[in-house]
Amino acid sequence: EAKKKGRNRVCWFEEALASETTARRRIELRIRDALKENAFELHYQPVNDARTGRIVGAEALLRLRDAQGSPISPARFIPIAEQTGLIEQVGEWVLDTGLRQLAAWRAEGHLNLRLAINISGTHFGSPRFVERLSSRLRETGVPGNALELELTEGVLMADADGNISTLARIAALGVALAVDDFGTGYSSLAYLKQLPIHRLKIDRSFVQGLPVHPGDIAITRSILHLAQTFGFEVTAEGVETQAQLDFLRDAGCPAVQGYLFSPARAAADFAALLAPEFSA
Ligand code: C2E
Ligand code: MG
Ligand code: MG
Ligand code: MG
Repeated sequence: EAKKKGRNRVCWFEEALASETTARRRIELRIRDALKENAFELHYQPVNDARTGRIVGAEALLRLRDAQGSPISPARFIPIAEQTGLIEQVGEWVLDTGLRQLAAWRAEGHLNLRLAINISGTHFGSPRFVERLSSRLRETGVPGNALELELTEGVLMADADGNISTLARIAALGVALAVDDFGTGYSSLAYLKQLPIHRLKIDRSFVQGLPVHPGDIAITRSILHLAQTFGFEVTAEGVETQAQLDFLRDAGCPAVQGYLFSPARAAADFAALLAPEFSA
């Protein structure tokens, strides 16, 4: 009986593995198709001034649907794009689309809008990354300082020495660098100080517990303090409630992003949020 149970378990495990492999393969094919058919979509989530609520920027977030039209989470398809070597192409599509959109908004007079784009480690580490970024800026006429690249703490710290020259070349284009999901990895303060970093993004997992959870309060305050010491800008991610916003604003957090203001929206819907008086 025990043996039979054991065998069933092995069987179940193998089936689960096989179906996971199939599911991943299906997503990989979906990514390939989306690249061919231009079926990816880029959505934009506003970044708001914590005091005035004004939109000061946007974060581009990639969207993909399966063949039935249901959304596939980026948390699911981005790692698959990384593991299958497709991320470079995907990431270049995101940069191209995001910069063109930003150029269009700038042409409409929104000159103070800064666009943040997430960059995966593999893409960032590819040999011609900076060269291609530089020509895209030139082609679209977007000044470097209207763009911000978000890299996770893990990517920055994994090869901090190796990254320094790439980061310096990016900074020389005027492009700002943000550390995404800050606080979830292990940043060396010595490196943080050396890297040309512009902004820390407080991870949503810490914002969630505000203004109640003592640990989250302590972490949020120390990130804000660290930022002040080093001269970094800060954005808090995942702000969903007025109480979280009030806490962050009073603690001196200058910028916030979250469902309290808006989720990521298609370009046209985002543009509708941009009141004309906020343009330069
Ligand atoms: P991230 O860069 O940290 O992006 C923030 C995520 O939090 C987004 O999820 C956003 O939709 C979500 N979010 C924003 N405000 C709230 C809120 O108030 N509550 C909650 N519950 N969630 C909120 P999304 O779009 O599913 O993306 C997940 C992750 O996938 C991103 O995390 C980023 O790491 C990655 N990703 C998304 N787009 C791209 C891309 O174009 N390139 C790369 N390399 N990675 C991307
Ligand atoms: Mg991000
Ligand atoms: Mg984040
Ligand atoms: Mg995240």
